[in-house]
Amino acid sequence: MCGIVGYIGNKDCVSFLIEGLQRVEYRGYDSAGFIVMEEDSMKTHMKKSVGKIIDLKKKLKNSDKGNIGIAHTRWATHGEPSIANSHPHVSNNKKIHLVHNGIIENYISLQKKLESKGYTFYSETDTEILVNLIESYYTDDIELATKKALHDVKGTYGIGVIHIDEPDKLIVARLGSPLLIGIGENENYFASDTSSVVAKTDDVVYLDDKEIGIIYKDRVIHKNLEDEILEKNVEKIDIEVQEIEKDGYDHFMLKEIFQQPRTLIDTMRGRILLDEGTTNLGGLKQHPEVYDALINAEKIYIIACGTSWHSALIGEYMIEEYAKISVEVEYASEFRYRDPIITDKTVVIAISQSGETADTLAALKEAKRKGAYTIGLCNVVGSTISKVTDAGVYLHAGPEIGVASTKAFTSQVMALALITVDIARHKNMSFREGYKIVKEMKLLPTLIDSILDNAPAIKDVSLKFKDAKNFLYLGRGFNFPVALEGALKLKEISYIHAEGYPAAEMKHGPIALIDKDMPVVFIAIKDAIYEKVITNMKEVKARNGVIITIASYGDEEIEKLSDYVIKIPDTTNLLMPILTVIPLQLISYYIATARGLDVDMPRNLAKSVTVE
Ligand code: GLU
Repeated sequence: MCGIVGYIGNKDCVSFLIEGLQRVEYRGYDSAGFIVMEEDSMKTHMKKSVGKIIDLKKKLKNSDKGNIGIAHTRWATHGEPSIANSHPHVSNNKKIHLVHNGIIENYISLQKKLESKGYTFYSETDTEILVNLIESYYTDDIELATKKALHDVKGTYGIGVIHIDEPDKLIVARLGSPLLIGIGENENYFASDTSSVVAKTDDVVYLDDKEIGIIYKDRVIHKNLEDEILEKNVEKIDIEVQEIEKDGYDHFMLKEIFQQPRTLIDTMRGRILLDEGTTNLGGLKQHPEVYDALINAEKIYIIACGTSWHSALIGEYMIEEYAKISVEVEYASEFRYRDPIITDKTVVIAISQSGETADTLAALKEAKRKGAYTIGLCNVVGSTISKVTDAGVYLHAGPEIGVASTKAFTSQVMALALITVDIARHKNMSFREGYKIVKEMKLLPTLIDSILDNAPAIKDVSLKFKDAKNFLYLGRGFNFPVALEGALKLKEISYIHAEGYPAAEMKHGPIALIDKDMPVVFIAIKDAIYEKVITNMKEVKARNGVIITIASYGDEEIEKLSDYVIKIPDTTNLLMPILTVIPLQLISYYIATARGLDVDMPRNLAKSVTVE
């Protein structure tokens, strides 16, 4: 959600700031802005716009130049998207400029305090309070004033600050919102996302919560809010520019769907021990206490939101069936506000692509407070969730830019399968069964390739339904969460109302909706409950529903019951969701693009949901 970027050096930085913002467009935003300052003349140039970065670009003039700058994409939390509410915000004396990601929770009490001192506010944002709070502490040192102000703040922030009387430095700080500093030669950068700086430098320092960075052209000083100097490690960025480009695909989402054979290989790399019929997860084994707790757990909670919640449900089916540990899947936002029973035999697994999901993070903190061991399943290396958990498994799926998650989902399911086999092999799972599963894992990329080869046929089917008003997705067992995910994907990017249900549940309510205008997607692969799904299909056909079936290769019978059939290869039960979801991702994509929608940036959605 939203992003910040900044620069200090000897060059004009306007184009860097704009490109940096464009790199985080995928995270979702509603307005954007920047300010640049010319060090010598101390002249500033500010531009803001509501809407897309392209609209901001249209406002640029040749005179907009500066060698120090801060920029922002805003995802409004306090006040509508408008020029007045866009960042950067400026203090009353017009000297301090601030960009901010996050929420100042105690802004009302701070606002009252500042108003009593004579401050006036021109926007509805919480951010404008912060910039004036800094001004209220300012005597002659912007670093000191920022630190003092941050001591008063409750909430979350990733901020970039400049003071026009101190044009030799940028101040950054974070609490709960991601922030990193990019190190260049006689120039330095900051950003909320590595993709904003990757074209300029490989060397970055990730800030931790309650840390502040004082960035000069030629050096960076790190401190905590108590003014103690910190030694921070410079780390290498683990992504290449090419990974964040579309690579000839029309959309990031399509690229990411087609990347899945590769991303699954990356998720499995080094983690499969074929000869031992098991898996090996370094991120768990390196923490023996957590690893033991997981194997001996009596209860596992998996907490997640959105698509990750669907992979969590698949994880529940896997772990209960194969590792015989009781699992409860919770929406992270609910977990936090209930009173879940956590004992010393409870382990909590948090799943989040970005590793920054605010609801999941808050639930995780609650779980830790209650004494649970915590494990993170994240895609973004160095993300907050990956840092606060006791141990973890990175997905290694590469940057996911499309807002609607695809490759992260299949990698999450794979990571959960790897964990399941690892635990199960310590318990009741035989070598033969373990071997069979890990062997099937290795075959998956080729099987996905064969589904993707069939994309033109899947497109033909999809286009028949581009004007549908509703959709129903039905599946059973491991494929019930896939039905939920298929429905969510369609909703997210095509804005068609869609619901997912366990197929048998249909007759307890949703069947009332079925008529000739209701497309019903069945996942009916040849597994143990195939016959039951066939019965459910007959119930739909008897009511004139239109059936699109995801079925196994070689299943001729299914044709009679279905209006359209998409055939896919088989694999072992617990891995089947990784295959069945692929045609559903493609159906959503083709329908949404046929409706002329922006699939990479669907309305109202953000990639990384950093507000609760
Ligand atoms: N809370 C701030 C606002 O509404 C910042 C939102 C953001 O993170 O973009 O302006």
